[in-house]
Amino acid sequence: MSETKEFKAESKRLLEMMINSIYTHKEIFLRELISNASDAMDKLYFKSMSENTGITRSDMAIKLEVNKDDRKLIITDNGIGMTKDELENNLGTIAKSGSLAFKNENEKTEDVNIIGQFGVGFYSAFMVAKKVTVISKAYGADTAYMWESEGVDGYTISEAQKDDHGTQIILDIKDNAEEENYDEFLAPYKIKQLVKKYSDYIRYPIKMDVEHEKPKEGSENEYEKEIVTETLNSMTPIWKKSKSELTDEEYDQFYKDKFFDYDKPLAHIHTRTEGTATYTALLYIPSKAPYDYYSKSFEKGLQLYSSGVLIMDKCGDLLPDYFSFVRGLVDSEDLSLNISREMLQHDRQLKLIAKSLEKSIRNELKKLQKNDREKYEKFFDAFGTQLKYGIYESFGANKEDLQDLLMFRSSNGGYTTLEEYVSRMKEEQKYIYFASGSSIARIEALPQTEMVRDKGYEILYFTDHVDEFTVQMMHDYNGKEYKSVSADDLGLETEAEKEEIKKAEEDNKGLFDLMTEKLSGKVKAVKLSQRLKTHPVCITSEGMLSVEMEKVLSAMPDEQAHNAKAEKILEINSAHPIFEKLKKLYAEDNKDKIAEYADILYSQALLIEGMPIENPVDFTNKLCTIMSE
Ligand code: ADP
Repeated sequence: MSETKEFKAESKRLLEMMINSIYTHKEIFLRELISNASDAMDKLYFKSMSENTGITRSDMAIKLEVNKDDRKLIITDNGIGMTKDELENNLGTIAKSGSLAFKNENEKTEDVNIIGQFGVGFYSAFMVAKKVTVISKAYGADTAYMWESEGVDGYTISEAQKDDHGTQIILDIKDNAEEENYDEFLAPYKIKQLVKKYSDYIRYPIKMDVEHEKPKEGSENEYEKEIVTETLNSMTPIWKKSKSELTDEEYDQFYKDKFFDYDKPLAHIHTRTEGTATYTALLYIPSKAPYDYYSKSFEKGLQLYSSGVLIMDKCGDLLPDYFSFVRGLVDSEDLSLNISREMLQHDRQLKLIAKSLEKSIRNELKKLQKNDREKYEKFFDAFGTQLKYGIYESFGANKEDLQDLLMFRSSNGGYTTLEEYVSRMKEEQKYIYFASGSSIARIEALPQTEMVRDKGYEILYFTDHVDEFTVQMMHDYNGKEYKSVSADDLGLETEAEKEEIKKAEEDNKGLFDLMTEKLSGKVKAVKLSQRLKTHPVCITSEGMLSVEMEKVLSAMPDEQAHNAKAEKILEINSAHPIFEKLKKLYAEDNKDKIAEYADILYSQALLIEGMPIENPVDFTNKLCTIMSE
């Protein structure tokens, strides 16, 4: 008795994608099916540990068979198997809605990328098979069931005959098509190659009967055929091998297979540490941030093994947030196999390992920065923001560890480290200067940078939201304080120059007071500028919060952050003709005109900063009135 059922809509779509796939790496179907088999055996192994069934790891194996004449490839495991319900729920509905959701957003993305990035599990079998049959018997069950499907039309489930627990997957391999060679999936040499490539570290033997020729006994040049059962995978995890045995290509390939990343990693760290914490770690620094890296759904963590057995897929406690981009695994004999998540959090051993890993990662990054600047810049483009957050979020506590890994673009051209900046500082230069803006082009055009630039001082360009916040937490670099080009005291002028400005301000106190009054609620004061040379006006700020920080905070979802306002100062260039005009109006006691001018100047300064002006219509009307005078 068999029942025919339809696939759920989503599964149907995924299946369609698989069947018509133009993906060139169809061969990954074998990796997917072998991984499923291995998972099923892990499940049985864990079950047997808790229930004392007497089953051990050495009883378990994956068997591959090819039958060229029938065009069948068969994968058998003696894992936990599936009940009838499980067959239906696991194979009739696909859990990988994540990959489909992704496809929806990027309708144009080829299925190629999705398959490459996510793997698609069981359904990938349909890339190479015209029919898939699954015969499974759950551990402890009496009856076996058979699931059969030839694609989108649906599947049938019926009772079946099977002696042992576990699952057998029978693929009817497609016929060769014009440009597609499916025959190769029936060639034992190809299967061997695929197992080596994708499944070499599977911890259960993957066995296949292979035909060999051997010299006939008693004869020198006659051969006869014999069948030998070979184990195709080495089973030794790559991290257990010594560094000298491994090539960069092998390291990279392992990374790509294990973490489903298309791109080669930028660097890897392979260490074995003995002492207070004994562990082997194989870590990678990716070359690109995953698409969800800066989102809530991203989960940091390393795989955690206890003597070669995976105990946790993403152990977050092994990585500080600022190194959350690191991928890889840790294998330690010090951890017990059935340690629970809660216990792990308090595990002393784990803390020691985490600490030592943090140091290794830091050193590796320093090495990269020193020896391969191009690669490091690529790294920094992808993950630099995370390092800056690391300093900011710790209120500067991580400063000593991280500041030398930071880089900023600067007026010197390209990226600079802080150490390099300081080494280029002029003898009389007191501060490390920085300017903030939404782009480098915008920053370079800022009036506030004029005087600093004129002195020949280098300026760090802050284009990242977190930059100013980070620098505020760092305070100084080896005693050299950071200074915004918009700060009230730039440390540029001589005492005599300061006196001069002070005097000019006193002479025009009435004018400035009047302007401040007219701009009340908008600026804290109107002053003469010490940083402008040719531009008429600019906005600067006093106190902890800069105009740039206000901008960042007001863009945050948190309503309260919107109340944070910089104490703005409107600066006027005493060398600009507009100042003479203002003085003249004041002498004429033309208060209305001064109010109008103050308003226009303030709006202009806001525009230069990239801030919105309150009333654009009023602003343009005023300008036009003046233009028509
Ligand atoms: P995934 O393995 O990522 O969960 P798959 O589509 O590959 O997705 O498989 C779906 C589910 O089917 C698995 O989670 C597992 O429960 C079940 N399954 C697949 N293959 C086997 C197998 N060989 N033995 C037991 N269960 C299996």
